[in-house]
Amino acid sequence: MAILIIYLAILGGTYYSIAKSSFSYIPSYYLSGVHRYTSLLAVGIGVLLFLLTSFSDPGTVKAENVSQYFSAYPYNNVIYSEKECSTCKIPKPARSKHCSICDRCVVCFDHHCGWMWLLATYNTQILLMVFLAIVSLLLAGFFSYHAKLCLTNTTTNETFKWQEYISWQGKINEAKASAAALKASINGMSTEGKPQKANGEPSFENPQWKIGEAPVRDTM
Ligand SMILES: [Zn+2]
Ligand SMILES: [Zn+2]
Repeated sequence: MAILIIYLAILGGTYYSIAKSSFSYIPSYYLSGVHRYTSLLAVGIGVLLFLLTSFSDPGTVKAENVSQYFSAYPYNNVIYSEKECSTCKIPKPARSKHCSICDRCVVCFDHHCGWMWLLATYNTQILLMVFLAIVSLLLAGFFSYHAKLCLTNTTTNETFKWQEYISWQGKINEAKASAAALKASINGMSTEGKPQKANGEPSFENPQWKIGEAPVRDTM
C-alpha cells in the first residue's frame, strides 16, 4: 500500500511542478489553451487506470465460489492435483495459489505485482494491458517524433521555424494571387472607361500595397 501512495505522490508532485512552471506559457503562439485541460485529462485517465488496476478484485477464491472455479479450472493431475489451502482451509482449484502478501487464495495466479500493488491474474490482466498500451503508445509517438528529427538532422526549434516559413510562403502566395485578381479586375474596369492616368495605368494605386515582402520578425 505504501508504494501506491509513493507513486501517487510522485505523479501528483511532478504534475504540479510541470503545471506551475509550464502553464504560464499556455496558451501561447505554439500551444492553444486547450492543452491545459488535455494534460489534466491525460494524467487523470492514467491515475484512474492505475487505481482501477490496483484495486480490482483479482479473483479471490472463497468457500462460496470455489465450486464455480473448480468447473472452470479442473485438475489435470500433472502439475495440478487435489490440494487444500492450509491457510484458507478450502480446496484449491487448478492454477490457483495462496498469495502470502494479500493473504488470500487467488484463481489463475500469475504473480503479486509490487509495482501496481495487485495480483496479476486473468481478471486484472486486461486492465494492465490497457494501462501498458496507453503508456506504450505515448512513448511510441514520442520515439517516432525524435527518430524523425534524428534521421532528418533537424532540431525541434527548426521544425517550428520551418512551419513558420511554410505558413509565410502560403500567405505570400495568397497575397500574390489576390493582387493578380485585383489587377485583372482593375484592367477590366479600365476598359469600361473608368478614369485613367496619362500612361493608361489605373489611377488608384496605393504605395502601401507592396506584395511579396514578409514582415521581418525577431523570432525568425
Ligand atoms: Zn497478493
Ligand atoms: Zn489460501
